[in-house]
Amino acid sequence: MRLPITLAAALAAITTLTAQNTQKPVSLIVAGGAVVTVDGARNVYNPGAVAIDGTTIIAVGPSADIAARFTAAEQINTVGSVVIPGLINTHGHAPMVIYRGLADDLRLQEWLEKYIFPAEAKTVSREMVRAGTRLAALEMIQSGTTTYADMYYFEEEIARTTKAAGMRGVLGQTIIQFPAPDAKTPQEGLARNEAFIKEFAQDDLIVPAVAPHSPYTLDAKDLLASRALATRYGVPVLIHVAETETELGTSKKAHSGMSPVAYLQAIGFWGPRTVVNHGVWVDAADMQILRSHQVAVSHNPESNMKLASGIAPVPGYLAAGITVGLGTDGAASNNDLDMFEAMRFAALLHKVNTGDPRVMPATAVLEMATIGGARALGLERQVGSLEAGKRADLVVVSMASARQTPLYDPVSHLVYATRGDDVRTVMVNGRVLMRDRKMLTLDEPAVLAAARTMADSVRAAVGK
Ligand SMILES: [Zn+2]
Repeated sequence: MRLPITLAAALAAITTLTAQNTQKPVSLIVAGGAVVTVDGARNVYNPGAVAIDGTTIIAVGPSADIAARFTAAEQINTVGSVVIPGLINTHGHAPMVIYRGLADDLRLQEWLEKYIFPAEAKTVSREMVRAGTRLAALEMIQSGTTTYADMYYFEEEIARTTKAAGMRGVLGQTIIQFPAPDAKTPQEGLARNEAFIKEFAQDDLIVPAVAPHSPYTLDAKDLLASRALATRYGVPVLIHVAETETELGTSKKAHSGMSPVAYLQAIGFWGPRTVVNHGVWVDAADMQILRSHQVAVSHNPESNMKLASGIAPVPGYLAAGITVGLGTDGAASNNDLDMFEAMRFAALLHKVNTGDPRVMPATAVLEMATIGGARALGLERQVGSLEAGKRADLVVVSMASARQTPLYDPVSHLVYATRGDDVRTVMVNGRVLMRDRKMLTLDEPAVLAAARTMADSVRAAVGK
């Protein structure tokens, strides 16, 4: 039966009202494009949507489903884009962006002794660390990184700057044997580290960590003191281990034939929530040790390639059930902080190294840059995937460029074609840090100008 037009209109209005009444109000809906969740089932919704309330993801699913269930005052339209979890950079030294391109194409020892160490001795200060961290945060946000791990000096300044930029950080004060810019002795470094842990213990964005530099720049006593400090406060440990063949040789010579991993085992250093940076020169026995202590590895393919450190056995780590996250290392040995590039290098390097193009498929590499990194840093309950209950750390990546056309599989493009500049919008903890490439938390021209000014003192320091 055909209803009179007025009655039909009234019924339609009632239906709409009922739908509105059952829709849950949330603060923000991100909808329109594909959503690559990196959840347990590796769901991709296309078109998909994410409902966010405050700092938290409330629901993720097909756009129509989210639109039927939720209503929000604010919407972000992602048509033509892909929404992914914020990328997680598991190793770096943020302020070293100031030394980007200062010296390249040198052996590690010459690079360090002739350029990096002299520059650091003369130019690392609170001011330099603030200017460098602002520049690093700007670059990381612009290329889709939302969480990063860091170990440097004056780490409290890095933490404050990171918070102000709105990013998440797992940050550790560097503890090292020789006099550092912020501590004359390892004891002083440990005391600074403890004060740092106390200052940021309850922070929503910053996870304080302990960062003993490496087994070759600290003696057993200070390595164990670093571990004890981390255990006392239940915080992560970040450490460089087995980066170069020289380090392996030195360790064997100094510690009765033991590798760096075996030596750290012998002194009782290993423990939970530990991230090994690099882990290039390891054997099967070392892997067994790392696995038995649930130690995670941060893989930094570009830094390892640029310094010719070697190739970390990442497929072997994964086969052994060891958690691997991806990192850039400092910009002085990369020379950028673009995690899309890190993903591409990770995917390609291990294919050519093993002679097997099936190794490190795009999905595995994207996992390494998201949920793998979250696991490595002990943050997998909060971030690393787009799932209800997790923090709203997400990135909107345009898929509209010539380089990304046509689009069959967003995960393929994310690893093999996308660049950091394709990132449009970045959110951490439900707060938009960059919208449509406009920075909301950092004054971009001021950050760039301060970094250029800082470079003048670096030039003077190394006579360049
Ligand atoms: Zn490093």
